[in-house]
Amino acid sequence: MANTPYPQSYYAASANPVPPRPALQGEVETDVCIIGAGYTGLSSALFLLENGFKVSIVEAAKVGFGASGRNGGQIVNSYSRDIDVIERTVGPKQAQLLGQMAFEGGRIIRERVAKYNIQCDLKDGGVFAAITPKQMGHLESQKRLWERFGHNQLELMDQKRIREVVACDSYIGGMLDMSGGHIHPLNLALGEAAAVESLGGIIYEQTPAIRIERGANPVVHTPQGKVRAKFIIVAGNAYLGNLVPELAAKSMPCGTQVITTEPLSDDLARTLLPQDYCVEDCNYLLDYYRLTSDKRLIFGGGVVYGARDPANIEAIIRPKMLKAFPQLQNVKIDYAWTGNFLLTLSRLPQVGRIGDNIYYSQGCSGHGVTYTHLAGKVLAEALRGQAERFDAFAGLPHYPFPGGQMLRVPFSAIGAWYYSLRDRLGF
Ligand SMILES: Cc1cc2nc3c(=O)[nH]c(=O)nc-3n(C[C@H](O)[C@H](O)[C@H](O)COP(=O)(O)OP(=O)(O)OC[C@H]3O[C@@H](n4cnc5c(N)ncnc54)[C@H](O)[C@@H]3O)c2cc1C
Repeated sequence: MANTPYPQSYYAASANPVPPRPALQGEVETDVCIIGAGYTGLSSALFLLENGFKVSIVEAAKVGFGASGRNGGQIVNSYSRDIDVIERTVGPKQAQLLGQMAFEGGRIIRERVAKYNIQCDLKDGGVFAAITPKQMGHLESQKRLWERFGHNQLELMDQKRIREVVACDSYIGGMLDMSGGHIHPLNLALGEAAAVESLGGIIYEQTPAIRIERGANPVVHTPQGKVRAKFIIVAGNAYLGNLVPELAAKSMPCGTQVITTEPLSDDLARTLLPQDYCVEDCNYLLDYYRLTSDKRLIFGGGVVYGARDPANIEAIIRPKMLKAFPQLQNVKIDYAWTGNFLLTLSRLPQVGRIGDNIYYSQGCSGHGVTYTHLAGKVLAEALRGQAERFDAFAGLPHYPFPGGQMLRVPFSAIGAWYYSLRDRLGF
């Protein structure tokens, strides 16, 4: 049987120790079978277990193998699309609910970390950095919008103020969200998996779901076993492949790359990011970075449409890092890796139900650390019969990609090229 290890990353190298989790052999029965042990699957499992459901998770590789164990570690609240766009799409009532929930994911993470004593280097404070006056204007209007939904913790920063928190001369201002922050993402997933098991949930690793038998009593088939369940939650996101063809048609896996420097001296680290906040810029193809607990700089950026792995990640990302921080010219890169997120045409998540008993959430299009934690709660609420918040998400439109699976990659790349050109030209 295949034994898929973690990709070589800083996170895998600094992961907390975990027990071995065997593959599923034979047949088991449960209330809810979850496909995928990333944040969506783990968060759903935790909320369900806390509410008395029996839960089994089948994971094709290892806990946090996907984006949840490889991401930039930035706790970025809200969605990958502005709430006024959402309001125009779905109307004020549904937008009100979605707007109220937009900062809940960050709170869920903090509650989980505190309740289950998860060691994942949680730090408060996230900065959105503006490079152009247009981006600064956008941040100002975003702040006003969020205040309409009761989120009053955001602070606008002028050029002088942002220079106090990040030593990058390209920024003309920004916005600080102290309810944002950062974590060691794989250790968060591993801590959540341990919490799932402490509540009686079972996680089978190296156990891909290879077929779903639909119907009143659905069954998840795996290479050496099957799980009979009352409900199934599909949480495979960009790594799901074609297991559920109707989901594959409406989304596109995309790769994004991350590098990690050698540990910096205390002085250099403090000069770059004196408050230890994480930062992302406001470009369409954005750069994002933060310090680790051992004072490395983790820097991510770039998108490969269609999720092909680039041959030389350092060659793509290091120049971006040096543009932001020329002072790192002589610093060595210790780790470089790629991971896949799932893009949707609207850049909004796709949430829904297939038949009566197969639920899914996928496609948060880049910003998913907080959303996936919220999604787990909303899915669990729906399974308990409280579907108001689930329905608010399920009502967001799911568009197929133009050009279908053949042409979605070039079409999206052209779109992204256009938007990044607009960023560079400042309009
Ligand atoms: C490099 C990178 C950097 C990012 N940085 C940030 C960031 O800083 N902040 C932020 O908010 N978001 C970030 N994101 C996005 C965020 O990480 C994701 O949105 C989020 O982790 C998705 O979680 P998930 O559980 O839905 O999917 P995943 O974490 O991808 O988990 C899916 C799991 O399902 C499993 N699986 C798939 N198919 C099957 C199957 N058939 N059977 C069994 N198991 C299966 C996979 O092995 C995988 O473990 C980043 C993403 C990447 C790739």
